[in-house]
Amino acid sequence: MDADVLIIGSGAGGGTLARALGNSGLKILVLERGDYLVREKANWSAEAVFREHRYHAAEDWQDAAGKPFRPITGYHVGGNTKLYGAAVLRRRESDFRRRRYPEGETPEWPIGYEDLRRYYDQAEAWYYCHGEKGRDPCEPPRGDFPYPALAHEPYVAQVAEALEAQGLHPFPLPLALHRNETEPRLAPCIRCDTCDGFPCLMHAKGDAELCGIAPALDSPGTTLLTGIRAHRLLTGPDGRLVATVEADTPTGPRSFSARVVVLSAGAINSAALLLASRQAAWPQGLANANDLVGRHYMCHRNSVCVAVDPRRVNPTVFQKTIGINDFYEDSGDADFPYPLGHVQNLGKLTPEVLEAQKVHWPEELAKLVARHSLDWWLTTEDLPDADNRVQVDESGAIRLAYTPNNVAVHDRLLRKWEGILRQLGYPLVKTQTMGIEAVAHQAGTVRFGHDPDRSVLDVNCRAHGVDNLYVVDASFMPSIAAVNPSLTVMANALRVAEHLRARFSTGLSP
Ligand SMILES: Cc1cc2nc3c(=O)[nH]c(=O)nc-3n(C[C@H](O)[C@H](O)[C@H](O)COP(=O)(O)OP(=O)(O)OC[C@H]3O[C@@H](n4cnc5c(N)ncnc54)[C@H](O)[C@@H]3O)c2cc1C
Repeated sequence: MDADVLIIGSGAGGGTLARALGNSGLKILVLERGDYLVREKANWSAEAVFREHRYHAAEDWQDAAGKPFRPITGYHVGGNTKLYGAAVLRRRESDFRRRRYPEGETPEWPIGYEDLRRYYDQAEAWYYCHGEKGRDPCEPPRGDFPYPALAHEPYVAQVAEALEAQGLHPFPLPLALHRNETEPRLAPCIRCDTCDGFPCLMHAKGDAELCGIAPALDSPGTTLLTGIRAHRLLTGPDGRLVATVEADTPTGPRSFSARVVVLSAGAINSAALLLASRQAAWPQGLANANDLVGRHYMCHRNSVCVAVDPRRVNPTVFQKTIGINDFYEDSGDADFPYPLGHVQNLGKLTPEVLEAQKVHWPEELAKLVARHSLDWWLTTEDLPDADNRVQVDESGAIRLAYTPNNVAVHDRLLRKWEGILRQLGYPLVKTQTMGIEAVAHQAGTVRFGHDPDRSVLDVNCRAHGVDNLYVVDASFMPSIAAVNPSLTVMANALRVAEHLRARFSTGLSP
């Protein structure tokens, strides 16, 4: 045996789990296909990040029609949190319940908010979460944030005041950034304009390398191997236990074994790995007796919204400090009694980002827009549709079928937000909705639940029918909610860690 617990993937789920199992007396092995993200000047180059895709996976996936696309996802120690915008929000209490939309509904979760609450507390503390209790209008019950909210820069503070004057409740966006309050040995966040989507050259982002893997490796029983890509999980003949993890390593193929295997390769890669693990006991793929693995893929309906007032210069550097949840539970419109979603500032658009994102404007126009723009990110929950799914071909290549849904709800949010920005005095408002390559918020492909006929994992995220296989990345979520997903992935990994400790303490009895 190589380990008691073998974790595949070192991102929000795997990295947090590794830390949570530290000092348990268990031997923990983390396999990560990527390497440490190199600290270099290019971390802060929009050209390198967005145009050259220097930190994105160097592979193409295919859409349902077989058309290749380059997914915006990274393979690094720390997973996609190395690139994330560090907006870390808890799901609302209502997000755990069935929710109705014009096109359908989201399912109830097998656990409620109170089941995750103390793990959210822990995750916020570990990931340096800064925020202010009592300002978010649909905030779930909670104690104080571990760290105070980041202050708005003056221009953003004026926008927040103007939104309040319209009767809205802008709140300080909870952010996972290291600000030096407790650990002076680490570099503090300098509030730069290269955060959202960029690697942090300061190493001040509360990511799963800094807050998961690094502390996990302080524990003597924990090892991380990089450059190891798991590609198949094989069980014994009765299919009840994963016996070996087959992997490609820099020195050739290798098998690993462990008493418990935890998959945390991200919602798309974890599903792909299970589907690629077809074998006699599991002919449709591991844990896939009911043909559910890979289905119900969700990624949010996400749009960028840029408001421009040519008469006002926006000198903000770190812009991502406002959150808006006034339409989270209900649109507020009598003719449309549905939730619309969440709004937050985007990192400040710069001419370099516009240029690198292939917005083909003359340089002077890009400069003008960036100088005068106020930028937002709008998110609506997408519904778990069984036909939105991950598949793999014989070579293991990924095909992602995704037809956007809940479109009318998202459009309503866009129109509403455009109207609000116009009332704030911005004559030009432009929105753009993300395409299939925007897999940042991928979730839902290996859902958990009570009923083995309708879920892949049980309530502890253990695969139905495979006693030693768990999944702790974003794939466990039966619905995605409209807030960013990573804090929930981290909190859930902490919950599963507690279950695993208890299970090992009873000799791994089922
Ligand atoms: C640009 C960007 C901005 C984002 N902004 C936010 C934000 O502001 N707030 C928020 O909450 N979320 C944000 N996200 C999403 C967030 O990063 C993810 O929700 C989160 O990282 C998911 O955690 P995970 O454990 O499911 O997967 P990941 O963090 O992606 O971890 C998966 C890991 O598994 C590894 N892996 C994959 N396949 C294999 C294999 N076969 N063998 C071994 N290892 C493997 C990968 O290399 C990776 O390290 C953003 C994402 C991106 C890309």
